Amino acid sequence: MLERIKMERSAENLRFFNTLTRKKEKFVPLEKRKVKMYTCGPTVYDFAHIGNFRTFVFQDLLRRWLEYRGFKVAQVMNITDIDDRTIEGSRKENIPIKQYTERYTKAFFEDLEALNIERAEHYPKATEHIPDMVASIKQLMRKGYAYKGEDGSVYYDISKFKDYGKLSKIKIEELKPGARVKVDEYGKEKACDFALWKAWDKEDGDVFWETEIGKGRPGWHIECSTMAMKYLGETLDIHSGGVDLIFPHHENEIAQSEAVTGKEFARFWLHSEHLLVQGKRMAKRFGNFYTLRDLAAKGYDPRAIRYLLVSTHYRQQLNFTFEGLKAAKSAVDRLTNFVERLHEADGEGYGEKIEVLMGDVKKNFNAPMDDDLNISVALAALFDFVREANKLIDNNVLSKEEAEKIYNLIMKFDSVLGVIGEAKREEKLPKEAEELIRRREEARKAENWKKADKIREQLKVMGVILEDTPQGVKWKIERKR
Ligand code: AMP
Ligand code: ZN
Repeated sequence: MLERIKMERSAENLRFFNTLTRKKEKFVPLEKRKVKMYTCGPTVYDFAHIGNFRTFVFQDLLRRWLEYRGFKVAQVMNITDIDDRTIEGSRKENIPIKQYTERYTKAFFEDLEALNIERAEHYPKATEHIPDMVASIKQLMRKGYAYKGEDGSVYYDISKFKDYGKLSKIKIEELKPGARVKVDEYGKEKACDFALWKAWDKEDGDVFWETEIGKGRPGWHIECSTMAMKYLGETLDIHSGGVDLIFPHHENEIAQSEAVTGKEFARFWLHSEHLLVQGKRMAKRFGNFYTLRDLAAKGYDPRAIRYLLVSTHYRQQLNFTFEGLKAAKSAVDRLTNFVERLHEADGEGYGEKIEVLMGDVKKNFNAPMDDDLNISVALAALFDFVREANKLIDNNVLSKEEAEKIYNLIMKFDSVLGVIGEAKREEKLPKEAEELIRRREEARKAENWKKADKIREQLKVMGVILEDTPQGVKWKIERKR
């Protein structure tokens, strides 16, 4: 028994593809068994679309796999509530930016819940960390990495950072000396000095902070550097986001953070590929997007959406189609039905052979997951197992005890997949049982203990077990195994 637990928790073979080296590398965190992970979060200027959620679901899979392997994860996900897009959005609606971004922040958390995404340890908001950002910028100025432009904005001088380009692999020689960019997002061809602090202009309206470095607001990149280091320290184990963030966002985060500390900012950079629609990246600006809400309104189950997003390897592009979503739904149903059926098993038992089957699926699930979260191979192994075990139930071979063991194993896998759990919890009390419980309460109030006990027995026959607690009567459904 001990041996098996040790095997499950072993993270010996865990490897991730590191964008920094463009290689799969063995993953060992700096601190034993503890992983410091920063995940770039949403810009709360609108509802997130399911392309965004592909990245957030990937980050959740990563977190859950680390936990499965026995690591304690400290995850930070920032909320970008001040940037070019949030200002533009609130100005268009003519409402205060705080009111505007709160609406979408709230929606984001509701969507996380619906997609069964585990909570990070911290969700820092950019607007609540302005003094920290100003301090970072001042340090960069003091160290000679940043300068004030004639417009009053503060820029990062990329020629001063010798490693500039190490993540995105752009060549510093190609850069135009002295050229500057003030917007947050730009292409590689426009790589040049970027804004750390944007001096107020009339487009910003009433969105500004009066600080030692002037009246204005932070650039997007310094937000992440500052909050990552504030909550997780100078060196992170993992930093992640979608591939579009490699340049300029993550390149600039490295330049900022490493210039401040002189230490490596993040050891592993993991990037997920995009969700596409007809071959094109799903994006607000292309108008080809679906929000979770759009799909839920059409009757699609969020668990099927989660499955769809999670079941393709994160470094492969994924084309969104409704056929794909339907297939995801039937995969989830297959798993859920299987779990339900396990409660029916009541055979003689399959003996040692069941141990072999279970050992195989564990190995064949764990090994590909350890290999850079190769989930499609892991899922294929899981579905092979489900097919075999279903046959054993069909033929009434599987015993109650064996079914219980399998149930626990599937639930362990689902601690990573996160698609069955909800269905399992949907225990409903039959109407007749509700009525019986009510009548038993009446009997108890009248101190008619005999009648109360009789009703308790009746309920037990129905599979409803009662427990009288100081908070009142509680019930649970006895699993038929
Ligand atoms: P944003 O709210 O725009 O800052 O994006 C939040 C996250 O979604 C970032 O990690 C992006 O890289 C990611 N993202 C944006 N579009 C897509 C897409 N079509 N597929 C996958 N991830 C995306
Ligand atoms: Zn970020």
